[in-house]
Amino acid sequence: MIAAFLVLATSACVLEIVVWKALGAKAATLDHGQTTTQNLAHSLAEHASHTIQSVDIAMSGIVELLKYRTPLPERLNSFLADTVSALPQLYEISVLDADGAWQYSSLAELPRYDTADRDYFIYHRDAPDTALKISRPVKSRLTGRMTIVLSKRVTRQDGGFGGVLIATIDCDYFNAFYNGFQFGPGGAIGLLRNDGIVLIRAPSANIGADLSKTELFTKQIGLSPVGYYRTISSFDGKVKYLGYEETPQYPLVVTVARSESEILSSWRAALRTDALVGAMMLGLIVVSAALLWSQFRFRRKTERELFERERRYRLLSDNIADIVILLEGHGTLLYVSPSVEPVLGLHGNDLIGKSCFDLVHPDDKERVLAATAQPSADSTNTVAFRIARADRSIAWVEIRLKLASEQDDRGQTKFVGVLRDITQRKMMEDELTSLNTRLAQLATTDGLTGLSNRRTFDGFIRREYEACDVISILLIDIDYFKGYNDAYGHQAGDECLKAVAKVIAEATFNTSGMSARYGGEEFVIVLPDVSEADALRIAEAVRLTVRALGIPNAASRHGSVTVSVGVSAKTESTLDATALIGDADIALYEAKRHGRNRSFASSALKHSFVEQVPLQFSPDQ
Ligand code: GH3
Ligand code: MG
Ligand code: MG
Repeated sequence: MIAAFLVLATSACVLEIVVWKALGAKAATLDHGQTTTQNLAHSLAEHASHTIQSVDIAMSGIVELLKYRTPLPERLNSFLADTVSALPQLYEISVLDADGAWQYSSLAELPRYDTADRDYFIYHRDAPDTALKISRPVKSRLTGRMTIVLSKRVTRQDGGFGGVLIATIDCDYFNAFYNGFQFGPGGAIGLLRNDGIVLIRAPSANIGADLSKTELFTKQIGLSPVGYYRTISSFDGKVKYLGYEETPQYPLVVTVARSESEILSSWRAALRTDALVGAMMLGLIVVSAALLWSQFRFRRKTERELFERERRYRLLSDNIADIVILLEGHGTLLYVSPSVEPVLGLHGNDLIGKSCFDLVHPDDKERVLAATAQPSADSTNTVAFRIARADRSIAWVEIRLKLASEQDDRGQTKFVGVLRDITQRKMMEDELTSLNTRLAQLATTDGLTGLSNRRTFDGFIRREYEACDVISILLIDIDYFKGYNDAYGHQAGDECLKAVAKVIAEATFNTSGMSARYGGEEFVIVLPDVSEADALRIAEAVRLTVRALGIPNAASRHGSVTVSVGVSAKTESTLDATALIGDADIALYEAKRHGRNRSFASSALKHSFVEQVPLQFSPDQ
């Protein structure tokens, strides 16, 4: 639209300049044409006037002479011949007597023919007028060429008609002179009598014609003896400019005609050049405008594309559940997508310019700093951390950081981060972790008593047996428990089992040992780095503590729930963990056999015959 307007405006300007210049140049050319035409007309009028005047002066002298004398023919003829040679425009000068016969002449021989019929002769014979008469062009009877005859009346002393003095000017004299001018096609020079008779015309045409009815004589000369006007030529019908001047001394008019097309030919040539230049400028304007227009279109298209792209990105960043941020290497936030509001209750604009590290939970700051410490253009750093919501609740978020600029200067480094609220996921993970822990616990502990189960014990004893040079175990069995179940019921039996298990658990609390349920109402305690004697003391402590619980057992001969303990320790002769357990089992069996509610050491059995001191504790001790 703007381009079209520019093209129109500048084109109009160029056209206006070309037209304005052309019109100005046309007026100036016509002006110049007028000046040169009128100057030429004036010069030619002067020339014609002088040509006639010099002859007139000579003729006046001769007429004056003839008035008083009749000169000798030889003398006057010679004088006339000298006059003709002095005036090149003259062909001959002669004197006709009152009858029209040749009396004197500049010619070598007097012509024989009669001139009494000539207009000028008749005129002078009948009119006493002494002024010079200029004839219409006549064909010379002497030369056969067109001639203008200048004549004067010879008046005798008594006033009577004495003849006519004639001087002839060959029309070719003027023709030769006029043809020396360059007046171009359609141009013409004319010498006319002021009654409209054409005396001379160059180029030669219409000699002797009567133009008295043309505009020049009907109008223009009447207005001014010197003039210039535009007319349609009566000769060729073309538009012409006519300059004319009437000589003051003689009844002569000189006309200079020039065709309009000839006057304007140089102007037309200049106009063609101007039009060409104008057309080139217009072309240049159109091409420039086209280029401008295509540039405009390209720019608008690019702007539209950019706008569309920006809109799309904004749509994405505004509507995704994730928070998109742009931050500098030092942590200053440059952009935070509006999704920060629904996710964290914070306002994006409030965060811009602040350090993102200030929002991070103090305990997680180190890890987040580390994630931005070593930027890599190829990889993405992912780190989870805690952040305080607007309502001061803590949210877990995960950020994926990617280098957005490749500047070496850390101050110029930029990161794009995509934050996602992973609070729910984190909660589920925690739940899963605790479930797994619980599952692991369930897999390794006994459901009823909370002690390690048999499987855990088996693994533990095998590892510890290999690892420890000194290791003891206690195998504990509740006495008369079948009877207890029978007497108080299975549920009460379970409660009893839990109470005893609690005592057994305390025996290894905060030690490297392990208390486990071996099966049914049997328990086992593993004591790494504990000697058999110390283990027996621990066994006794357990036994006494159980008895001190005072859980009544009507089926027991002790009246309350008691335990029997078999103690064994790793010795050089012990083959493996199973053998160690076997030793404890044997000791337990011995404790049962000796009346229950007692602790029995395996070594006491093996060496009882040697040392005579059985290593055992009984209820009475
Ligand atoms: P002793 O003094 O010789 O050990 O006699 P006892 O009755 O304890 O002997 P026995 O080993 O024959 O009996 C074990 C009983 O323990 C049998 C079973 O009913 C009971 N028992 C085993 N496991 C459980 C349990 O998980 N809960 C309950 N309530 N009773 C159990
Ligand atoms: Mg048993
Ligand atoms: Mg038992």
